[in-house]
This record gives sequence, C-alpha cells and structure tokens, in this order.
Amino acid sequence: MVGDGFKMHNFIPGVPQLSMQRTNPFIVLDYNSLTELAPSDHVRGVGAHPHKGFETVSIVYHGKIAHTDSTGFHGVIGEGEVQWMTAASGILHKEYHEEGFSKSGGKFQMVQLWVNLPSEFKKEPAKYQSITRDKMSKYLLDDNQGIIEVISGEYNGIKGSASTYTPIHMYNAKLNPGAKANFNFPAEYNSMLLVIEGNIRVNGEQKVATDQLLIFENEGEGFEISTDEKSVVLILSGEPIKEPIAAHGPFVMNNREEILEACNEFNLGKFGYLE
Ligand code: MN
Repeated sequence: MVGDGFKMHNFIPGVPQLSMQRTNPFIVLDYNSLTELAPSDHVRGVGAHPHKGFETVSIVYHGKIAHTDSTGFHGVIGEGEVQWMTAASGILHKEYHEEGFSKSGGKFQMVQLWVNLPSEFKKEPAKYQSITRDKMSKYLLDDNQGIIEVISGEYNGIKGSASTYTPIHMYNAKLNPGAKANFNFPAEYNSMLLVIEGNIRVNGEQKVATDQLLIFENEGEGFEISTDEKSVVLILSGEPIKEPIAAHGPFVMNNREEILEACNEFNLGKFGYLE
C-alpha cells in the first residue's frame, strides 16, 4: 500500500531484472490493477510527502484522484486523464481519492510512473501539465480498429500534448477486437508495454495478458500489437539519460551528496509546508 489509498504493485525497480538504469528514463512504475473500492467517508490516500529530481506521471484508468501541494495548487485527475508533475527542484504534495469518488466508491485503476530528469533540469521550478480528456491527442486507426492516445512524443504524425525534457513516447492504445497496430522506436530507447485491459499478442506470437508488463530488448525498431478482444495497452519508449542515478526514497539525484542535500532541504522545510 502507498498510504491507505493506493494498492500498488511495483514493477520498476521492484522486479529483480528491472533496475532504474535498465528502464531509464522510466525509473519507477507503480500499478494499481483494477480494484473495486467500497464507499468510504474517510478519504483514503497518501499524506504530505516530498519529491525531488524527477517527474511523476499519474495515469487514471478508473476512478478519480485529487492532489494538493505546497505551492497551493489543487487539482483532480479524472478517468482517462493524466497528470504530468515536474517535481524537479522539489515539491511537497499529497495524493488521495477525490472526495465524491471516495463516498460513492467504484472501480479504481491507475499507473504512476517516475520519469528521470537530466541533471541540468533537476534544478527547474516545479510545474504541472494536466492532460484532461479534451487535451488528449488521438490517432484513429483505420477500419474502426481503435485509437492511439498520444500522451507525449509522437505517433504517425500526431503529437502528444505533454512536453518532456528528453524524448519520450507515451501512448494508450485502445484497441477493438481484430485490431493490429504498429509501433516504431529507436533501438537504443528503452521500450515496454503494460496491458491494462484485455489480452494481446506482440509480433503475432508473444502473448501478454491483463496486468502483465513486457520489456523489449534494445534490438530492432518495430513491433506489432494485435488482439482479438477489446484491449487497452500503455506503451512507453524513452531515450535513456546517460547519467548516474542516486535514488533514496522520494529523491532521485546523480550522486550521494545531492541526496544528502535534498534530505537537508526537506528537513529545513525548503519544499514548503503542507498540513
Ligand atoms: Mn507523490
């Protein structure tokens, strides 16, 4: 559990083969698989905590999350929406179920990624990008095969609305039965996919079921996803940041000195105040 609200499975760096460097620039992948939440008057979530040196990307498939931070910013991430938070030089925030959703209960499913930043951008002021449904770029596949939602990067000429500090392609492929879709990324990029709903085949042979993560080797550039059923697939591909990674709890820097500095800043209240 992350706090009392998020039942997270940690794929990265939790799975032994998946280190932060192996999947860099994606340094954490936490997944709350589809769960049914009972109605609750107590709003569940995770209390005030800091982040520094990277970005958090929260993708909500079912349910609603709210968040508040030390700059006074408050917002809600609705179903089908994405919040791209650049923590960079540091922020203090809390994340919890949106009050109305908490009271009514219902389906909940989300992903939180941590995306690393090159050292020169770890000093930037914190900021947000809210990719609400109306801002989500979409590529329509031919013959009603489905849509590719482009969160960042580009797919067949359609650009995602999130801006990134290093090249990152992030899509939600929402596929109909019988769909086939092709993807192409540079071989050196670290690429992976997570099946959110349904069952798929990659290159016609490798089956990947709901809640399974597939990591590509850094060989070749193209792959095809096909499916016989309605499926949703999160697809990630990013250029590795060729820098050392020093991670400690909510801080991801380049070396131990910078981690100690981040701990000091936090203890001195430099990330602001949040009840
Ligand atoms: Mn957080």
